[in-house]
Amino acid sequence: MAETTTQLTGAGIGQGVALGRVLRMSDPLPEPAETPSTRTPDEEKARVAEAVAAVADDLRSRAAKVTGVAADVLEAQSMMAEDSTLADDVATRIDGGTTAERAVFEGFAVFRDMLIDLGGYMGERATDLDDVAQRVIAALAGRPAPGVPESDEPYVLVAHDLAPADTALLDLTKVLGLVTREGGPTSHTAILAREKAIVAIVGVAGADSLADGTEVIVDAASGTVTVAPADDQRADAQHRIEERAAALAGGLEPGALADGTPIPLLANLGSADGTQKALDAGAEGVGLFRTEFLFLDQRMAPTVEQQREHYIALLSAFPGKKVVVRVLDAGADKPLAFLNDAHEDNPALGLRGLRALRANEDLLREQLTALAEADAATEADLWVMAPMVSTVEETRYFVELATGYGLKTVGVMVEVPSAALLADRVLQTAAFASIGTNDLTQYTLAADRLLGSVAGFQDPWHPAVLRLIGEVGAAGAAHGKPVGICGEAAADPLLAVVLVGLGATTLSMSPAALADVRLSLTRYTLDQARALAEVALAADGAAEARDAVRAAATPPPQ
Ligand code: PEP
Ligand code: MG
Repeated sequence: MAETTTQLTGAGIGQGVALGRVLRMSDPLPEPAETPSTRTPDEEKARVAEAVAAVADDLRSRAAKVTGVAADVLEAQSMMAEDSTLADDVATRIDGGTTAERAVFEGFAVFRDMLIDLGGYMGERATDLDDVAQRVIAALAGRPAPGVPESDEPYVLVAHDLAPADTALLDLTKVLGLVTREGGPTSHTAILAREKAIVAIVGVAGADSLADGTEVIVDAASGTVTVAPADDQRADAQHRIEERAAALAGGLEPGALADGTPIPLLANLGSADGTQKALDAGAEGVGLFRTEFLFLDQRMAPTVEQQREHYIALLSAFPGKKVVVRVLDAGADKPLAFLNDAHEDNPALGLRGLRALRANEDLLREQLTALAEADAATEADLWVMAPMVSTVEETRYFVELATGYGLKTVGVMVEVPSAALLADRVLQTAAFASIGTNDLTQYTLAADRLLGSVAGFQDPWHPAVLRLIGEVGAAGAAHGKPVGICGEAAADPLLAVVLVGLGATTLSMSPAALADVRLSLTRYTLDQARALAEVALAADGAAEARDAVRAAATPPPQ
C-alpha cells in the first residue's frame, strides 16, 4: 500500500530544500536504575573521574578537528564535563550510596533544570549538558557514545535533538538535511546548521514518529517536512534543489531584482578578520562594520593609532567599494564600564549608542579622527554612521561633528521609532539611513531583544515595523538618499524582497546569508516586490504577514 503524504512543521533554518530517506540518530541511553551501589564510594568516584576525563578528552580532540562555533561549543562542553561544582554534586550523591551512573544522571539533571529555568540562551545550553551526561554514562557503561548513524548512502538525519559534538562532525557529503524534534532558532543545532549551511528544520513536533527509510522533503524556507511525497512534489523539490545549487555555485553576481534593478548586497562584519569571508561570498562592500569589538572587554579605549590600523586593514580589503562603519555602539546588550558605569534599570532605554558617545565626546572625536586618517590612507568609499539616533537634533549633531573631520558621507542608523517617523527630516541632514531592524523591532514592539520570555515579539515581519521601514524608504526616495537595511531582517530571503518593496536600496547581512538573498531577489521585479510589501503591510501581525507574503509569492515568477 502506498504511504499517505503528510506534512510536519517546525522552524526552518535557511532556505534549502532536501529530498531523501530518513535515518534516525540512535536513541538516548536508558535512565540508570536507582538501585544502591555494590561498590565503595571511592571506587564509584574513581569510575566517574575516569569516564569524565575520557569524555572531556574526546570532546577536546573533536574540537581540534573543527573551527569556528563548532570548536567553541565542543571546548565549552569539555569544560562542562570537568566542572568542579558538578563533580562535587555527583560525589555527594555517591557518598549517599548511589551508583556512578545514577549520580551522574541526577547531578547533571539538576544543573540542566537550572539552565532551563534561566531560559533564553542559557536554556538552549541544556541540550549541550544533556549530551555531556549521556556521554559520561555511556563511558561508565563501556558503551559507545550515542551519535550519528553510519551510512554509505546520503540521508536525512532525524534526531530528537542533535548534540553539538555530533553536529560538528557531520559528514556533509552524506547528510542531505536535518530534522529535530527539539530546538529553537537559537539552539546550537540551529546555529551550527546555519554555519555549515545544512538544510535544517528544528522543533518539529512529529519528528519522533519518522521511521528509518521513510522518504521526506525538507523545505527549510517554509519550515515543512513532507512525509512520503507524491510524484509531483518530489519533482518540484528536485527542481528547486537543482535551481538553488546552480545559483549558489554561480552566485557572485551583484545583487539585482528580476528586472535588473541593482540592490547591492553588503556584508555585516564584526572585525577586519572577516573581510575574506565576505569577499568570497560576493559581498559588494560592507554595510555594517561594528566597531564594538575594539572596545568591549577593554579597561580603556583603544588609542587613535590602534584604531586607525584596524580601520586601514578593513578599508584596504575593499578598494573602490563602499564600507559603512558604525561608531561605537555601547550600552544595553553591549555594556562598557569606562563609558557608562551608572546603574540603569532599563539600559536599552538608557545612555546607549550615540547618547553615550555624546556624553564622552573625546572618545567619539578620537574614533572620528582614526576613521578620517584611515580614509585618507586607503581607496575604499568610507561611509560613517551613528547608532541609536532618536532625534533630528542628534542627527544634526553627528553629521556636523563627523563632517568636521573631513568624513564625506555621514549618516545615521534608524533603530528607534521616533527616527523612522521623522525620517523625512532626518534625511534632510543625513547623507543616508541604515535601518537596524534588530533594535527597531525591540523598540517598536517594546520587547527586550535579550529576553527569552518576550522573544515572540522580536519578529521584524511585524507590520508595525514594516510600516516604519516604509516611512524611511519613502523619505529616502523623496530626498534621493540611500536607505540600507543592516539588521537580521535583511538575511531572510523573502523578507529581503519585502524590504526592497518598502524602499530599501541596499541590504547588508552576515556573509553566509548572501547567496540565498541574492537568489531570492532575482525572482521578483520591483513592482512585484512593492506588491508583496503591500501584502505584508495589510496583515495584522508578524505571522500573518509572513504567511500572506509566502502565499502571494508562491510559485515565484519564472
Ligand atoms: C540592529 O539593531 O539591527 C543592528 C544592526 O545593530 P546591533 O544588532 O548591533 O544592535
Ligand atoms: Mg542596533
